[in-house]
Amino acid sequence: MLHKNTILTLKFNLLYVDYSQTFIYRNGAEMSKKKSKHNHKNYKIATLCVHGSGGYDPATGSVGKPIYQTSTFAFENAKAGADIFLGEREGYVYTRISNPTQAAFESEMAFLEKGEAALAFSSGMAAISGVIFALCKSGDNFVSSDTLYGGSHELFAETLPRWQIQAREVNAVNPENISKAIDKKTRLIYIETPANPTMSVIDIEACADIARKNKIPLVVDNTFSTPYFQQPLTLGASVVLHSATKYIGGHGDTIAGVVVSSKEFIDNLRMGILRDLGGVISPLNAWLLVRGLKTLAVRMEKHQENAFQVAKYLQFHPKIAKVMYPGLTTHPQYLIARKQMRGFGGMISFEVKGGRKAGEKLMDSVKLITLAVSLGDVDSLIEHPASMTHSTYAKHELEAVGITENLVRLSVGIEDPADLIDDLSQALNKIK
Ligand SMILES: *Cc1c(COP(=O)(O)O)cnc(C)c1O
Repeated sequence: MLHKNTILTLKFNLLYVDYSQTFIYRNGAEMSKKKSKHNHKNYKIATLCVHGSGGYDPATGSVGKPIYQTSTFAFENAKAGADIFLGEREGYVYTRISNPTQAAFESEMAFLEKGEAALAFSSGMAAISGVIFALCKSGDNFVSSDTLYGGSHELFAETLPRWQIQAREVNAVNPENISKAIDKKTRLIYIETPANPTMSVIDIEACADIARKNKIPLVVDNTFSTPYFQQPLTLGASVVLHSATKYIGGHGDTIAGVVVSSKEFIDNLRMGILRDLGGVISPLNAWLLVRGLKTLAVRMEKHQENAFQVAKYLQFHPKIAKVMYPGLTTHPQYLIARKQMRGFGGMISFEVKGGRKAGEKLMDSVKLITLAVSLGDVDSLIEHPASMTHSTYAKHELEAVGITENLVRLSVGIEDPADLIDDLSQALNKIK
């Protein structure tokens, strides 16, 4: 198991597993010797978020997942250690490679995303760069949607070219643009939907069709929706990843990332990328994410309920030019959102009349809502993408992807929606 396969020789058709209900519980079953009495097949996703894949700590039966705060693991004897290194025996070696608390989080994520296996990283960016490095070598390219988290765009446009890996960013709202950009050296398709920060929605099934025809994997950044509202693997994607910093953790106290895919891809990602590049998650942070998942369902429902109310309020406000929320029938990809999402999430962006100055006035005037980047926390957060999270885009690029100077991004928290609307109302009144 500890021998590194070179991931570039993976046959990508193996990634197109039929992620049917039948084997999604495997990870959980393997994790625990104590059998859960749950009949998972009959439970709805809110129940599954709380109870997870159903295992208890194999060593003690502990119901809460223990934090294995250790860097290394003792071998039974020299032969056992050698056998583990040879891959002839399962076992923990060193926390940069794997750790039971990490494994608990990974098995829950694989379970909720309906993938075979998952791998946690120290951040969303470590997960994203890990997946790209796993699939591409120098001279290769990949095709990506053009409205992305600012850090992803920076990685794609500025950093990866130093290793001769080219990202071709296209407007993927029309998937034909993806097809046109693919050539013999294209190794993957990468999309983010709903996109940060414009909330544009990309048709996952259409992109998966293109990926399948070209025998390359489709990678989806599912940070905004979480598996509670959208499960890209069931729509034909091969790899799903998250900034778990956001809704998965949910409390603004952890930086983390996670990748979910086939067992083969994840094994190779662990031994070919995580072990060598070292972007490992700490056991404590993995534990915070396990805890976060327990309340994912109630949090996401509340984020959505509040976002709907705030979006409807803003939509008819005289000082607002435009509101982007996939749950509004006025959203240009509303029908695609309806088709592929169980719910529309808690992220809203909107354009304030009066340009950048008016937007700044609003952000400086809110009292309850915090002016800060990041998103998906229980507290509401507001920010200005063009000068903050998306300042990695050049001015002409910002215009091209619809990140205007007067665009404000709001991560709607789980406060009472009346208080959020009151706060926005008093702040909007301060704009002349
Ligand atoms: C925040 C974010 C990232 C980066 O994740 P980090 O945990 O900050 O490294 C990637 N994608 C999306 C959509 C994000 O919002």
